[in-house]
Amino acid sequence: MWREDDRMVEVYASLGNERGPFPRACPACGECHAHVLMHRPELSSPRGTVWTWCGSCGSYAHFGAVIPEWWENPGFVDEDRLDSFVDYPDGISTKIDEWANELLG
Ligand SMILES: [Zn+2]
Repeated sequence: MWREDDRMVEVYASLGNERGPFPRACPACGECHAHVLMHRPELSSPRGTVWTWCGSCGSYAHFGAVIPEWWENPGFVDEDRLDSFVDYPDGISTKIDEWANELLG
């Protein structure tokens, strides 16, 4: 069901804007099913990996980027299960949304 869509990068690009809590409106289909997960492998480096995806239309993006300073790696995410796809994070999207909302305040 998943397909890469560059428009999903917007979920990351608009993180600092006040767009309300996750799940947010999907840039591809407009439904409020867009999620974001970020992972910073080395705490000393700002670079990391981003996954954005929509549980409604299946659009997703996976890319390397500078991770915002406020982001903290969620302790409940099994790093060994992170790959290029979003099946794993989608299965725990409710917890990921709660985590992002807490960090965004
Ligand atoms: Zn969508």
